[in-house]
Amino acid sequence: MDDQTPPPAAIELIALTKRYAQGSVAVDSIDLKIAANSYCCLLGPSGCGKSTTLRMIAGHENTTSGDILLENRNITSLPAAARGTAMMFQSFALFPHLSALDNVAFSLKMKGVDKVTRHRQAQDLLERVAMGHLAQRKPGELSGGQQQRVALARALITQPRVLLLDEPLSALDPFLRIQMRAELRHWQKELGLTFIHVTHSQEEAMALADTMVVMNHGRIEQVGSPHAVYNRPASEFVARFMGGHNVLDTTSGKVAVRNDHIRLAPAEGAGWPATVSDVEYQGSYVLLGLRLDQAAASDKVSVMLAEADFVQAPYHPGDRVGLTWAPEQAHSFGAA
Ligand code: ADP
Ligand code: MG
Repeated sequence: MDDQTPPPAAIELIALTKRYAQGSVAVDSIDLKIAANSYCCLLGPSGCGKSTTLRMIAGHENTTSGDILLENRNITSLPAAARGTAMMFQSFALFPHLSALDNVAFSLKMKGVDKVTRHRQAQDLLERVAMGHLAQRKPGELSGGQQQRVALARALITQPRVLLLDEPLSALDPFLRIQMRAELRHWQKELGLTFIHVTHSQEEAMALADTMVVMNHGRIEQVGSPHAVYNRPASEFVARFMGGHNVLDTTSGKVAVRNDHIRLAPAEGAGWPATVSDVEYQGSYVLLGLRLDQAAASDKVSVMLAEADFVQAPYHPGDRVGLTWAPEQAHSFGAA
């Protein structure tokens, strides 16, 4: 391979479809390429088909039709253990009665690998995630972050090319969740593997992903960097799901305008007349809820003001204002 040849996608999905016997289509003919060594987040509301997609990649769920390639190798009908993928589960699912070392070595033990060999490999992996010195501790004697590293080492013992994570942080309290996601991001870069991480949290996906895949009703609505998806949502669904946008029905069609891109003017000035309905202090900014005089696509509009601006010119429920925005801040759909 010369320098000009792009590396093969870590994972390629081709018209991948899952139809459960008793239900409608859970995953509806999706096409997707996930770049090698990237952090990819599958994002969407509950029931949109994220876990089903991940489980088909893992080999824990049969496909109805379509193909799954890993580095150009068709793995669609291979058993889970032969695919080159590994799964990291919610809450880490460590065995409480086993040491970190034995947790990591567990799958090798199941394969009949002798104790010296499996312990050496497990110890090496624990060193790689900076946990070598705690190899003899049981999960209960480790912090959440340390447990996550043990779970990571355990998933890596099969030498996967692609690590699959299904809502790995959703059972953690908010503080730990933010700490743990920074760790996941760090280890993905450090280990040079491809991570595919399922989440229903826009915030989590934006914080982690090189590439976000926004799903809805078994289909892909948009693929792109967090910046691209947030600034150029491809559909009304994406704009609403990502949050931070107002969808407004203008004479030239529906547009999305970020709530920090809307300016407020006195009611008798230019713009769309509206009434302030609520004021929420959020620390570094203040979020205003407003009702438009004329009904637009959004029944309610939100505007984010920097705290310093709000302090200069505060608003109160009942205040009359006019909404304006620069034309280039109004994003129409399908023009991404
Ligand atoms: P997500 O992970 O995005 O919340 P899932 O992939 O779990 O969504 O589910 C997608 C759709 O498939 C949902 O409508 C769900 O009810 C359905 N589904 C998931 N698993 C099964 C199953 N084992 N049998 C029947 N339907 C299922
Ligand atoms: Mg799920």
